Amino acid sequence: MKKVNNGEYAVITGASSGIGREIALVLDGIGYNTVLVARREERLRELKGRMKNKSEIICADLSKENDCARVSEQTEKMNVQVLINCAGFGAVGEFAELSLENELSMIDVNIRAVHILTKLFLRRFKERDSGYIMNVSSCAGLLPGGPLMATYYATKAYVCSLTESISAELREQKSGVSVSSLCPGPVDTEFNSVAGAGVGMKGITPKECAEYAVMEMLSGKTTIIPPGIMKAACKASKLVPAKLTLSVISKYQNMKLN
Ligand code: NAP
Repeated sequence: MKKVNNGEYAVITGASSGIGREIALVLDGIGYNTVLVARREERLRELKGRMKNKSEIICADLSKENDCARVSEQTEKMNVQVLINCAGFGAVGEFAELSLENELSMIDVNIRAVHILTKLFLRRFKERDSGYIMNVSSCAGLLPGGPLMATYYATKAYVCSLTESISAELREQKSGVSVSSLCPGPVDTEFNSVAGAGVGMKGITPKECAEYAVMEMLSGKTTIIPPGIMKAACKASKLVPAKLTLSVISKYQNMKLN
């Protein structure tokens, strides 16, 4: 991958774990300075200690609107060229049974924080007509729905739809700014344990996911689906009735509950 070394910064949310952590390492590896965002400060400090280039940490709870605004304010003086919206989580179970409070917090992190940060950074990037935003969605966002993970799938559909639309606006304007959504299938991270799920399908490693995602983002791809069985499944789902896809997803999510 092409190296950068012009004092450019990449802001990565969800950098304390999994995919976000690995994306931060890949971006540091190609020369970006990094701003690492999450709630768990110790994890961020440990990661900062591994970075070759300049690195700052911002402890923020992105379910809170003020904390989202603070991420933008604290990076205002930096030459930020990349925003990765990776923070997010899910919950497995029947919609009627899952905690409303937890789901509203999920909507705040998976949708509201992505929406706020995308808008605030896009305004900055458009001023100088350059920059990359990558919103970490999921294959879930490309499918018709997800029984037993209904809210999570719906949040990711929002992210895919929002990103596609902004990307089309920027294309029309022949903008130098690029917006992408990353739509992985299973990735082996802490995601399942946070979601209250048992072991699901074997995933790719977060490092594989991150390397592929950064390469595709820098090439200006709008929808990024890492290679694997879910890439084929997303394509196949377009060819069969939604009810069939939903019943397959239901069986898959049910396995995680047992
Ligand atoms: P993970 O290892 O659990 O990482 C989740 C990250 O989100 C952590 O850094 C966590 O940081 C951060 N986060 C959660 N709630 C937050 C909050 N309120 N404020 C700030 N940060 C918060 O899971 P992951 O798999 O890497 O997930 C990263 C993204 O990939 C998510 O958006 C997820 O939906 C998506 N994804 C995952 C998979 C998969 O199979 N793993 C597949 C498709 C898409 P703190 O807890 O330190 O705050």
